[in-house]
Amino acid sequence: MDKISKVVVDTSNSQHAKLRPVPIDSTKLQQGFWQEKLKVTKTVTITTQYEQIEATGRLDNFRRVAGKKDVPFQGRYYNDSDVYKWMEAVSWSLAYDYDPDLDSLLDRVIEDVAGAQWADGYINTYFSLERADQRWTNFDLHEMYCGGHLIQAAVAHYRATGKTTLLDVALRFADHLCDTFGPSSKHGRDGTDGHPEIEMALVELYRTTGNNRYLEQAKYFVDVRGHGILGSAYGHMGSEYHQDHKPFREMREIVGHAVRALYLNCGSTDIELEQHDEGIRQSLHALWKDMTTRKMYVTGGLGSRYEGESFGSPYELPNARAYCETCAAIASIMWNWRLLLLEGDPKYADLIEHTLYNAVLPSIAQSGDKYFYENPLADYYALHTRSEWFECACCPPNIARLIASLPGYLYSTANKAVWIHQYVPSINRVQIEGEDELEFAVETNYPWEDEIRIKILTNMHCTLNLRIPSWSQSSEITLPNNEHLQAAGGNYFTIERHWNAGDLLTLRLDLSPQRMYAHPYVDEDVQKVVFTRGPIVFCFEDVDNKGLDPRDVLIPENAQVADFPHSYFQGVRALHIQSMQRHLIQPQTLYSREIYKYDVVPQECVLIPYFLWNNRGKSRMSVWLNRI
Ligand SMILES: [Zn+2]
Repeated sequence: MDKISKVVVDTSNSQHAKLRPVPIDSTKLQQGFWQEKLKVTKTVTITTQYEQIEATGRLDNFRRVAGKKDVPFQGRYYNDSDVYKWMEAVSWSLAYDYDPDLDSLLDRVIEDVAGAQWADGYINTYFSLERADQRWTNFDLHEMYCGGHLIQAAVAHYRATGKTTLLDVALRFADHLCDTFGPSSKHGRDGTDGHPEIEMALVELYRTTGNNRYLEQAKYFVDVRGHGILGSAYGHMGSEYHQDHKPFREMREIVGHAVRALYLNCGSTDIELEQHDEGIRQSLHALWKDMTTRKMYVTGGLGSRYEGESFGSPYELPNARAYCETCAAIASIMWNWRLLLLEGDPKYADLIEHTLYNAVLPSIAQSGDKYFYENPLADYYALHTRSEWFECACCPPNIARLIASLPGYLYSTANKAVWIHQYVPSINRVQIEGEDELEFAVETNYPWEDEIRIKILTNMHCTLNLRIPSWSQSSEITLPNNEHLQAAGGNYFTIERHWNAGDLLTLRLDLSPQRMYAHPYVDEDVQKVVFTRGPIVFCFEDVDNKGLDPRDVLIPENAQVADFPHSYFQGVRALHIQSMQRHLIQPQTLYSREIYKYDVVPQECVLIPYFLWNNRGKSRMSVWLNRI
């Protein structure tokens, strides 16, 4: 095995990758928004999630199979995956900020997990003991999905600590899988999982070990789909639900269960990063286009239907009934990260940022210990509140692993160049191919303030590529010689030169508030408007607005909008809007043969970043507001 590099998705040697990853420990976040989030993730989220996986029997399920505890199986058939995702979160946290207590806690959990593995490499606590004869009899029951999360946790743990205790378990499982299914298996048995996940895990295992068998197995699991092996999901949900309705290369529309579809896209992109296949590439482009132009919420949230946790029809994007599973937003970031590594197109980095702030962050309370599973864009009756845990708890540990690994999503390298995708206060040492390290600091109070200062700390000739977000309508870069340049949004601004220690680059983005409107086919959003400022989507919450019903707020076309520091959420910029309020006069009935009459009076309103809603108790909320 090569030198261990603490990267999230290791495209260091991927033949078709445009960009190479930068290890998590190359970055030290400095005081600011994301440093605080990582601190809360480590000190609150990871610790309280450990208490939950212990209290709900998820760990006892492993001890039970290992013969350490005589208790019944608890929970659902996929509960092992929650433990694995938590282990992955701890591993990324260790990679970024080593903590001996967390390391030894993880060692103890690994011992319990390893004790539940069968001699042939199989591991799944639901299908052990009394259900042992049902192994691999129903591909909708997540055996490979759980195994995929085991592999991802093991790769993260190995990269973070250099230990192979969990990697050995994962390798035995992966070998068991290769021995059981596909062309290289002993009996040539066909199979693939109803819930994709194993594909990207196996590619990462290939990258970690160099063993081509795992890459071939991942390709097999993608290629075998669409030929009826899975059939109708759970016998009655249809084959689109679990992406078995057609071969991947023929897919042009993103359909079915959102998390499943997006995880499959992640795995397929991982394969494309290693071995180019024009059919796969075309499908990836078509699916991304369908998702972003017809099926994505203004927040970046995905999967509009509760029914089947699925993508809806084109433009079917209800607000109060938005499903928008947290895991789907996380999966979108994972997919866009892989696409960014594959093609280097800034549109993927834009969407990562947008989804992070507006679809992932809303799902976790500021306190770091409560979560949304569904993320509605409106709540007119103050029904929603975050929970400490769920019976189906896929989302909470998924949030933990994403935020813990965030320092690995900020930068990339290639060909003596550094890409700065996201602007986070940090001090960084980035190894440039065949050269020394470029050291640089990013100083900013972004996303609240518009100025980003990049201080070069070493002498070196290299190229810097700065992402200019597509929403920034006028962006200015000041070079070390004080030269001012305009930079177009939706690009990387490229500067190649010999840098001297002490050189300062200043980037000023346009953070003025903007309005967004929806395509007229999104019938719920007709005559409505959303406010954004930089990457942040805002919402109306009644607690800032004297209990006013968000449906009675009217936004005139020329309404003045100003940002100001919010008094409750420290450091956060909120919006103040010269809006109107509607008072219904008559009739008061549900339906009428007369047109409804109402008064309109001036009523200023306050909007907060959508990701902060529901942090002051239950409230009425809406992202989209009526226009007048
Ligand atoms: Zn979930």
